[in-house]
Amino acid sequence: MRLNLKTTLFTAALAAVMVVVLIIVSLISFRYFSLQSAQEHARTAAEIVRVNLTEAMVNGTISQRAQFFDRLRHVDGLLSARVLRGPQVVNQFGAGLEEEQLQDRIEAEVLETGLPYFALENEGSAPVFRATIPFTADRTGNPDCLQCHQVPDGTVLGAVSLSISMAHLKQSALITIAAMVLTVGIFAAFTVLVVRHMTRPLVTTAADVQGAVADAIEGNFTHKIQRRTNDEVGQIADDLNKLTDYLHAGLSQISSNVAQLIRYKAPQNGHNLLNNTIGMVEALIEASQFKQAIEEDETKREVYCRIGRVLGDGFYIDHFSIYEVASSKNRMMPVLVDGQPDGGCRWCNPQILVRSEACRARRTGHIIDSIDHPDICVAFNPGDEHPPGAQGHICIPIIQSGSVGSVVQIICNTSEGKHFQELVPFIQVYLREAAPVIEAKRLMDTLRETNLRDPMTGLHNRRFLEEYMETLVATTNRRQAQLSVLMLDLDYFKKVNDTYGHDAGDAVLKSLAKVLRRVVRSSDLVIRYGGEEFMVILQETADNNGDTVAEKIREAVENEKVRLAGTTLQKTISIGIADFPRDADTLWQAIKYADVALYKAKEQGRNRVIHFKPEMWTENGDY
Ligand code: GH3
Ligand code: MG
Ligand code: MG
Repeated sequence: MRLNLKTTLFTAALAAVMVVVLIIVSLISFRYFSLQSAQEHARTAAEIVRVNLTEAMVNGTISQRAQFFDRLRHVDGLLSARVLRGPQVVNQFGAGLEEEQLQDRIEAEVLETGLPYFALENEGSAPVFRATIPFTADRTGNPDCLQCHQVPDGTVLGAVSLSISMAHLKQSALITIAAMVLTVGIFAAFTVLVVRHMTRPLVTTAADVQGAVADAIEGNFTHKIQRRTNDEVGQIADDLNKLTDYLHAGLSQISSNVAQLIRYKAPQNGHNLLNNTIGMVEALIEASQFKQAIEEDETKREVYCRIGRVLGDGFYIDHFSIYEVASSKNRMMPVLVDGQPDGGCRWCNPQILVRSEACRARRTGHIIDSIDHPDICVAFNPGDEHPPGAQGHICIPIIQSGSVGSVVQIICNTSEGKHFQELVPFIQVYLREAAPVIEAKRLMDTLRETNLRDPMTGLHNRRFLEEYMETLVATTNRRQAQLSVLMLDLDYFKKVNDTYGHDAGDAVLKSLAKVLRRVVRSSDLVIRYGGEEFMVILQETADNNGDTVAEKIREAVENEKVRLAGTTLQKTISIGIADFPRDADTLWQAIKYADVALYKAKEQGRNRVIHFKPEMWTENGDY
């Protein structure tokens, strides 16, 4: 309820209570004083009547008292006036006139008790005051009553019975009440006006404060409250202005600092400073939590998936893809497409996968936004399902070591484009946090990969085998499959080195590596086990087809011509083979057995494949 209405209602209620209380108090007092006054008048009138009658008795004109009574009845305001004879007087002087007879029980009681009777009767329409006042014989009076009346002193001789109209009493009461209501009403109206006048600055300042607070909630702290008075209300206006100025300055400072931090440019007009700042600070906090999480992630893929979750669950983007630019720079690999890992190239021309320059974001290192510039990227190809223009894209490059390392592509309808454009600075906060982490993990991957490969042949090395062994065995056991382990050693290789030099030997080894890669499936492992010894692990071999592949290798090596400066070399190879788990309980044991079989192949004249048999193995390692 508004303050004005409250004060008006309060004053009206107070005035009404005052009117009621005053009326009640006035009526009671009025009645009391009127009755007191009527009693006094009645006593005086009774005394005059008594004196008159006594005078008539003394003067001997008492027989003419009827005329006196008659005149008495015409006195203004006197409705009736009678003189009653007490029983003693009746006894001595007779009953007297008719009007001197008793008329009711009240008169009889007064004569009997000697006590006066006063009462206001017919109080309804025309109130009447009735008084019956006794005369008593008094020896000490002047004249002495007992001179004529033969009665004891104190005897009730008679009484005067008067009826006085009190009609004026009601009228006066009504006039008094009206005057009182009018006075209180005027007073109340005046009070309302004065109170309203006094509270006006408070009410208008309160309305101003309401407006300022509403504006502040909308993020606008520039609403000023006018100072209207020099009292506390004016002070409130000043204080609130100071507070909003302080908040505006503080928030603007925080907002611009945070905006700088996340490289966000807030719109000039109509933006909610408070919400904007809260949004930016939240984005910063979340981004810092995100950074902590990705730093603890083990692989690059986990980091990409986490970026995917931020885009999908945090920014509610349904269609987005992440591509990684290969270290060779000319290829791009889809990491997540429409939120799914390994999803192919759905929204772009697949050309970008083999020629990364075709991706405009990758080529320029800029954000490519088709919302403001439709058809900006020719490689964007949403397909027939989505006619051109119905879909837009925003492609954000992630810069790693000064060049584009990955590209995040957001697909959106033209209607939601503006919203996504606003999200871009916030998404970039995450991408900037992710960039160095992805870079570090890529570097780690490269280092690891280098560590696990033989630089000369490009084949995996023995360390790789050691690391991969556990997974390999677990997968084989789970699939209930069989592995064939082939140990290979070039025959009389030392001769090559000795005859043609070490470089020629290297060329032979490289050529052998190529042959091995060519002959086996891509899922098989080719390892340079050491020097000119190689190992091939054939996956999921059944029966003796490991031997068949080994034979194919042997033949291929035999037929391979290694061209050297001025000569061509042809070498042979010996191969020992053992199956896991058919021949050995553990893979290491199978490797050992394959080595035993290789030894046998050498022993039996080289250039052959020998499959391990248990009799080749003696407990003391003698074979
Ligand atoms: P065998 O038929 O018994 O195997 O006779 P072999 O001459 O091949 O004898 P062995 O396997 O013991 O010879 C290994 C030689 O391979 C010794 C070493 O000089 C040579 N070798 C090892 N690693 C390399 C390499 O990286 N490059 C070159 N050029 N030679 C290597
Ligand atoms: Mg050897
Ligand atoms: Mg050899």
